Parts: sequence; C-alpha cells; structure tokens
Amino acid sequence: MTEKKIQSIRGMNDLLPTNSASWQQIEKIVKGVLNSYGYNEIRTPIVEDTALFKRAVGEVTDIVEKEMYTFNDRNDESITLRPEITAGCVRAGIEHGLFYNQEQRLWYLGPAFRYEKPQKGRYRQFHQFGVEIFGLEGPNIDAELILLTARFWKALGIEAHTSLEINSIGSLEARANYRNALVTFLEQHKNKLDEDCLRRMYTNPLRVLDSKNSTVQELLNQAPKLFDYLDEESKFHFEGLCRLLDNAGIKYKINQRLVRGLDYYNRTVFEWVTSSLGAQGTVCGGGRYDGLVSQLGGQATPAVGFAMGVERLVLLVQAVNPAFNCDNSIDIYMISSGDEKTISVTQCIAEQLRDGLPDKRIVTNYGTSNFKKQFAKADKLGAKIAVIIGENEIINQSVTIKNLQIGEQIEVSQKEIVKACLAMIKS
Ligand code: ATP
Ligand code: MG
Repeated sequence: MTEKKIQSIRGMNDLLPTNSASWQQIEKIVKGVLNSYGYNEIRTPIVEDTALFKRAVGEVTDIVEKEMYTFNDRNDESITLRPEITAGCVRAGIEHGLFYNQEQRLWYLGPAFRYEKPQKGRYRQFHQFGVEIFGLEGPNIDAELILLTARFWKALGIEAHTSLEINSIGSLEARANYRNALVTFLEQHKNKLDEDCLRRMYTNPLRVLDSKNSTVQELLNQAPKLFDYLDEESKFHFEGLCRLLDNAGIKYKINQRLVRGLDYYNRTVFEWVTSSLGAQGTVCGGGRYDGLVSQLGGQATPAVGFAMGVERLVLLVQAVNPAFNCDNSIDIYMISSGDEKTISVTQCIAEQLRDGLPDKRIVTNYGTSNFKKQFAKADKLGAKIAVIIGENEIINQSVTIKNLQIGEQIEVSQKEIVKACLAMIKS
C-alpha cells in the first residue's frame, strides 16, 4: 500500500525557483524606495496572543469574526497566526519603548494568514509589505506615504495601472454621530439590505458602505454622508492632505464610501486600486490610526501606515509587463574533464572567481565529463561564459574561457582568470 501523498495546506503557496527571481527583484525595488526615505525595518513574530488582534483589529470585523487561524498552544494559551502586521508592530513598539518622545518610521515584509476562500490574488498565507509611522500628526506624513507608494508604482513600471482613492473617516466621536444617522437611515430601508448588511447594520454599520451589492450601493446614494459629520480638525487635516497631493501632482479620487475593513483607522484612509487584476483590485491600503497605541496600553501616539499585498503586486507587475520575468540565468559555468584532480582545481578557480566577482552567479558542473553535454547545460542555464579546465589546462596552469554568446574563446593563465572573465563579460 502506498502512503497518501502529503500536500501543502490549501491556499498556502510554494514560491518556486521559476518565480522567486521576480519576487526578489520586486522586493529589491521596494526596499530601495523605502531606504531612500530613511525608513527602518522591523520584524515581529508570526504568532501573537489572540487578544492582540481582537483588540487591535476589532471584534466585529471580517478578520476577527471568520478569518483568523487561532488555536491553543500546549500551555492552553490562545495564539493566532497574524492576519495583519500592524498590530504586532504596535505591540512591539509599546513593549520596547519605541514611542517615548520619538518618531519611528518603520517598514516590514512578511507572511500573514487569513482563512479566506482561495482565488487569484487571495490566499490563506500571503505576504505584506507595509510601513508604520509613529509620532507624526500632520497630513504631511500622510502625503509622504502616498508619495512613497506612488514611487513604488513608478519604479515597478505599473503607475499607469494604479489609481488612488482617499477619504477621511474623521474622529471616533464624529464616526459615532454618523453611525447613528446611518443606522436610522438603514432601518428605514431594511427591505433593500442583504443578509450581510443586515448583520453589519448594528455591529459595524460603516462596513455597509463598502458592500459590493449594487442595490445597496444605489440605496446608499441617498444615505447621510460621512463627510457632513466630520469634526473640524479632521476636515482641516483632510484639506491639508489634498493640498499637499495637488502640489505634488498626485492624482486622486475622493471616495466617500471608502471606510476600510479594520476598526483602528481614523481620519485619512486610502487605497491604491487597479482594474488589471479582476476582483482582487486593492493592491495597497492604509490610513491613520491615532488611537491604536493607547488602545493597546501605550501612551497616546499618532500613527499612520499602509500595507500592500506582495502576491497582488507581483501579479500586477507581470500582467502589465510580461517581459518582467526575471530569470535565474547564471553568468559563468565551470566545465572540467571530471576527474578528481581537475574538479579540485576547478573548485579552487571558481572560489577565486567568487572572490574577485562577488556579484556574479557561478555554477560548477559535477554531473558528467562529456564536454558536449556540459556546454549544452551551460546554454540551458543561460550562462554567458564557460570556463573550461581539461588536461591541457592542468599542464599549462591555464584555463580556457569561452564567450558562449559569440563563440569566441581564449586561453589565459590561471592567475589572470578574474580579469579575463570580467573583460569578456563586459565585451
Ligand atoms: P480585500 O478587500 O481585498 O479583502 P483587505 O481590505 O482585507 O483586502 P487589508 O487588510 O487592507 O486588505 O490588507 C492590505 C493588503 O493586503 C490588501 O490591499 C491586499 O493587497 C493584501 N491582501 C489582503 N488579504 C489578502 C489575501 N487573503 N491574499 C492576498 N493578499 C491579500
Ligand atoms: Mg479582506
């Protein structure tokens, strides 16, 4: 009897070598932009106390109600695979005193977990790149984050395929006032609400605003507008943000229905959306969360951040630019006659090359002593140069290097190898 094959968990993907080079390239571009703004990386654990997410994300959210991977550990403590990374950053910042009279400009990259229905752009393990800024209050930093994200799209060549939506959801009090007005309105139109909206109507009525149901959307045209309930400070903040974006030449749409799914947001919220990915159109979402640090037991600290889904970003970059398919091609392939002595010399020469050309990818053949097959392998791996060591080269203390693109080859002394390879790569 054969054993049952063990497979990956549904919705959790392996990143294979065919695609990992593209991921690396995209991560490199994003990290380069983050670095150019002087932001610093933070890494927090993948599991946290379940209470953290209940308190930070909010009990009545899709995430906490139905998407978390929660289980008891061996000590019977409830722990959760992080469904997002902001809560962990705030927890870590409080725990390590990062917020005392300091500004923090942080970024993170890592996996997050949500029990959702897997489909294109939506997985159970996915990756988020995000930024969290602490200690800055004004709209200037909101604008900086939007400028930074715009720079990502430009650097990735997808700026024509992303558009920005912004809104202000005001202060907690303003939202409470609006909430009452909205519930009163919804109660008068219960017959037009679907099951989901009816459920949300009392638990989290603002979420009714981003219902995908077209009857509901139509009804909402007559609903009271959140903007009319904004407190003066939030209005002032939002106008400031709009001016900064206008001055910087950033185009945006004010979307009064944009509320975001997580409880912790206030004032500015924004999303970058794309029409090039089908239903999973939100690439990046963020906003202010000035109340979260104190809500989690720290001293009140203004905060703003965003998170973007790496899978969606990669899908978008590849959809927009099919040529953006970074391969795993190598630079130099080491070919030898395969006996132990020659292999040993070849390994030493390969090490010498890695000392001299640390950014080149160098692979040594071990499989076969048939030269023809080795050259075929070099081609298959996309090598630009083959370094060949056979009987003659051992006797002459030389190597033969061959430019695989034009077929030209030369013999040089083993001491000259780095210089000769470099010259050939450049030619
Ligand atoms: P959506 O409305 O698509 O469910 P969300 O509002 O739940 O998104 P956020 O919590 O704001 O998403 O997370 C930030 C980003 O992370 C999203 O804009 C998206 O790019 C990505 N993301 C969220 N959930 C998933 C998932 N299950 N799989 C892949 N990417 C995801
Ligand atoms: Mg979601």
